[in-house]
Amino acid sequence: MRDKATVFVSSFEEADLYRKSYSKTTKRAALGLQVIPFLAWLQDQWDIWGDSRRLISPLERTILVSKVVREHGGIASSEGAVQLFSRYIYEVAGSTVFENALNSLDSYEGIVREVLEIVASYKKTALAHHFIEAGEAFAFLPTAAFSCSFSLSESFVPPFFLQEFIDAHRDMFSSADKAAKGFTETIIKPLPEDISVEFLFPSGATSQGSLLAERIESWLSDAIQKQCFSNVLLLCATPLELFDTLLSRMQSREINAAVSGIRPFAETLFGKSYFALHAFFTDHSFSALSDYLKSPYSGASIFDSYQINSLLRSEKRFDDKEIREVIEKKASHFSYAEELFETIDASLILDYFKDVAIKCFAHDEALLQEEIEAISSLRSLYEAARMFNSSIEEVSLFAESLTVRSRKIIDANQPVQVLFATHHEAFNVAPQGFNTVVMCDLDARFFSSSNVFAAFLHIDEALGISFAESFLREQRVMMMQAERCAFERFACEQVLVSPEGEETYPAFFFDELLSFYEKEGSEEPFSLDAERCFVFQRGEEYLFDNLLIQEESEGASLCAEAAGKSKELPVLVVPKVIRGMLSEDAKSNLILPRTQLHYCKPIQAVSPSDIEAYVMCPYRWFIERRINPKKLDFERGSLEQGVFVHEMFADLYRIMKEDYSLSRVTEANFEQVSKIFNTLFEQKLKEQTEDDSAHYVLESELDIIEGEHLKETLLASLEQQARMLPSYVPACHEKALTVSDGILYAGVPLIGRVDRVDVSSDGKNFVVFDYKGNIANHKAGYNPDKQEFSLPQKIQALIYAQALRKIFPDKTCSGALYLSYRSMEDSETLAGSYNESVLDLSSFAKKTSVVAMNFGAYLDLVEEALVPYLKRMFSGDIAPNPCNSKACTYCSVANCDRKCQ
Ligand code: SF4
Repeated sequence: MRDKATVFVSSFEEADLYRKSYSKTTKRAALGLQVIPFLAWLQDQWDIWGDSRRLISPLERTILVSKVVREHGGIASSEGAVQLFSRYIYEVAGSTVFENALNSLDSYEGIVREVLEIVASYKKTALAHHFIEAGEAFAFLPTAAFSCSFSLSESFVPPFFLQEFIDAHRDMFSSADKAAKGFTETIIKPLPEDISVEFLFPSGATSQGSLLAERIESWLSDAIQKQCFSNVLLLCATPLELFDTLLSRMQSREINAAVSGIRPFAETLFGKSYFALHAFFTDHSFSALSDYLKSPYSGASIFDSYQINSLLRSEKRFDDKEIREVIEKKASHFSYAEELFETIDASLILDYFKDVAIKCFAHDEALLQEEIEAISSLRSLYEAARMFNSSIEEVSLFAESLTVRSRKIIDANQPVQVLFATHHEAFNVAPQGFNTVVMCDLDARFFSSSNVFAAFLHIDEALGISFAESFLREQRVMMMQAERCAFERFACEQVLVSPEGEETYPAFFFDELLSFYEKEGSEEPFSLDAERCFVFQRGEEYLFDNLLIQEESEGASLCAEAAGKSKELPVLVVPKVIRGMLSEDAKSNLILPRTQLHYCKPIQAVSPSDIEAYVMCPYRWFIERRINPKKLDFERGSLEQGVFVHEMFADLYRIMKEDYSLSRVTEANFEQVSKIFNTLFEQKLKEQTEDDSAHYVLESELDIIEGEHLKETLLASLEQQARMLPSYVPACHEKALTVSDGILYAGVPLIGRVDRVDVSSDGKNFVVFDYKGNIANHKAGYNPDKQEFSLPQKIQALIYAQALRKIFPDKTCSGALYLSYRSMEDSETLAGSYNESVLDLSSFAKKTSVVAMNFGAYLDLVEEALVPYLKRMFSGDIAPNPCNSKACTYCSVANCDRKCQ
């Protein structure tokens, strides 16, 4: 007497659903009822009744089958063949008919004998590694393991060995007969009258997105009109791709969507990084290496990865050793990743990469989960491969077939209106769980009526095995389950032409459903009964993107066209190109996102020089700094010289401090500093010729004379600096302001590099210096009693000064000055803005640079005046708008309508 019951289901999600539905319909708790996936039940039983062998996992089976097939030699060990063989073994191993065949090998010949020998060899190898197949374990269980009654949920299609057992023990599966009845009598029927039915026929892949999007919008807007919530379950072959296709449209309509799908390991960020490195190590592919370096798993900063990339693409030839040296320096995770391809014992290294993923993707929970799953799946592969002594090369081969589950949601705080999922997910949804269910991709490319084990047909015939019925039944059950999930509406979708341009054919079960809706006697395609269903067609000429533009510009109703009311082609409106106008899509790219580390969220930030250039003329800024056309040939001009001078001063002050304990240049130590300067100058000039990235290279005699002249000029500047502000010392040179400093200027994140900051001996005041060759027009003084406030022309130093007030809150800023290293006269050495009550610069700067008000308040005034400019900049306004006629004088924009003469 069996008073307990066990129901086999296809997944834990379905088990949960089954229990809930059981309690709801019977109004009883599911006590004494075990609902469990079959393999989980088998594992439980094996733990009780089994021996020391372990149930083999699908991954372990694949590795072992690959090994055995390769060693056997007779059959090609392609990835597809191995996968097929593995699944076939799972189905038949342990079944009476197959085991009998294995025990009488001599009765068979040819391919049948060959396959049986491979399976026999596989079983022997598995046994040697203490593994057992599910079917063998099932056959091994004692009668005591079957002390309850069994049934099978409608979604669970038993493997061949279990079906054979059910057929032989009908009494044990008596209650399963009821469920099995559902299987054996599985036939597609028309939908119930209260469910509205739609058939969607886009002609190709492009119009598929368009048609689905518009139908979803129409269904949801119907619900909004009725003031009720509505949701859509969209079941398709590739939910992740379809979700990405429709994402921007869903977002623009404020539709909250989610997706659950399977992503190949090779398409995860970790998988891409793994295969890029594999291509580098096996094929010496530099382009693959560039892809790896841009990955967060390389540990290289974005800047370094781009620099190495341009190095690799330069004309210089590198050997592997040189390349590795460069990469090891810049990419901190490279040496760990390298080990992945050197040792099969890589579990610890993969744990290291898990930590990297946690750091990099903490801001995106869905992405983090996906990446961790990808790393864990590779870890399991390495562990299984280690058990069977597989090679690293084999691991890479198996890694190609790994997959991970991927989930995404637009807004986790809102209910999901559209869920994209694989067809099989229908089994994990409660009956009538969605207002609308759409079964997509219902063509023979995705649903074949032929036996997947057709390759084994000859063997099956010889052994008396038949799979065909179970495959047809499995697909029909899935369709019926999807129908059951719909509460209000059921839609079927079939693309009529594949991306390869071939006509597609409906899946056999879809054909069966269509037959109920066809108009009697009609030979026309899609001649479906309008009273019983709705048909929506979409031609490939309605290209998705074009349609979007059309719709955005004219506000046209897509639904009207979808209903076939208009056959006219939409007019594609090409916007007139206007100087200084960006497309909506390009606006988000106008300000460069910055980050120092891959795992920091990029932030759009601007530098003081960007702001100054934008104020001068937005369009000139856009062309010269964002488009940034390069000179055709390499030149040594004022820019290269300026960079050299900045580095000279920064290095000189560093060496003076570190090697000679000199905090500044004074009249007393000038001789000593001159000597240090001369040595450093020669040394840095020499470095210019050796360093590929340096450009102040002196070649001709004239160049050398120019170099000598520059040396004298800088020495003269040093002599002036020795006499300037004697109570101040340089506190820092080339101080970087990065996004991680979190400085907001006029409401926007600021980045940049301050040439020099000097601090007073009492530590209370500081002055910002910006080195310049020429400081004409750099005066930026202000006297509120004598003039109206207007933005000075040169504002970089003022912006830096204001930013540094936030970094040095205990100090007062007294000046934002430009220091001319070419000045011949003391009085022409400094310009900008300064507080003359704190800084005595009467010999070095003119009165036009004096700020006759509180200096901090002046910096605030400048910042406030820049707020509207930055607002315009961040909104994407780049229309030509010169601040004065001087802005146009050296502008490189040709034929500008707004050019001031
Ligand atoms: S020519 Fe004048 S107005 Fe035109 S982009 Fe240049 S600076 Fe702006």
